[in-house]
Amino acid sequence: NLQDTVKLNNGVEMPWFGLGVYKAQEGEEVIQAVKAAIRAGYRSIDTAAAYNNEEGVGQAIREAMEENGLSRDQIFVTSKVWNNMQGYETTLEAFETSLKKLNLEYIDLFLVHWPVKDKYKETWRALEKVYKEGKVRAIGVSNFQIHHLEDLLADAEVVPTVNQVELHPQLTQKELLKFTKEKGIVLEAWSPLGQGNLLENETLVSIGKKYGKTAAQVILRWDLQVGVITIPKSVNEGRIKENADIYDFELSAEDIAAIDALNLNQRFGSDPDNFNF
Ligand code: NAD
Repeated sequence: NLQDTVKLNNGVEMPWFGLGVYKAQEGEEVIQAVKAAIRAGYRSIDTAAAYNNEEGVGQAIREAMEENGLSRDQIFVTSKVWNNMQGYETTLEAFETSLKKLNLEYIDLFLVHWPVKDKYKETWRALEKVYKEGKVRAIGVSNFQIHHLEDLLADAEVVPTVNQVELHPQLTQKELLKFTKEKGIVLEAWSPLGQGNLLENETLVSIGKKYGKTAAQVILRWDLQVGVITIPKSVNEGRIKENADIYDFELSAEDIAAIDALNLNQRFGSDPDNFNF
């Protein structure tokens, strides 16, 4: 079900399914979205310093815990250090800022948001430090390609638990999935719905019809069946519930193959080897 978890390489359990809150506005919008999600059974929230909504996310989590009788250890919170704060000292500072804005006792997972050239290794050393101090339960990376991971692993003391990357039926990331599996790193899909662009795809719609499901639900079910963590974004309560309603059907092997075959190696977001922010 919605609360099923994957055991990360350090033993920490992370839900396979969560809510993404990129572009959810700080204040009322993000608060309502996170509370609706937790009411609907979501237990994982993906934010970042760059999303400018960590305060609302933290407030919503505290209120939702109270209203739903949940304890802090039943919720999993991810945040990320933004590119302009990469480097050792600045990342330590950025971590404290995120913790303070969230106003929670700890962060569950803290990620290097993008592999900023010549900086990400120092950034990683800072994450290793806060991890060893017990201020965060797990650390990981985002937007790392195989060569970035190889480079990082050459010096890392702590192996990243997670690599959060753009992944959807037009960008299935099979090579990276195989590589990360071998290294004990779990892949996590951002923009799983292709930012909403894949929801009219005929293959996905027609597979959905067989099960009485939407294209969004087909994609999110595919994520779970191929073994990637998924964090669809919505601030609309109906869609938040719809996206989570994927535990009463199973895609066949043929369906999975048909979805895999939609791959075009095509991104909607930026290329991790060529970004300038
Ligand atoms: P997404 O693929 O989750 O799509 C979200 C869009 O689809 C929204 O516009 C929403 O209105 C629409 N939508 C959602 N559910 C729908 C439904 N059931 N029916 C119709 N429309 C629906 O895109 P995303 O927000 O880019 O990605 C999800 C999350 O991934 C983000 O919120 C963020 O947490 C994370 N993310 C991380 C990075 C990174 O660099 N690490 C980059 C982008 C996103």
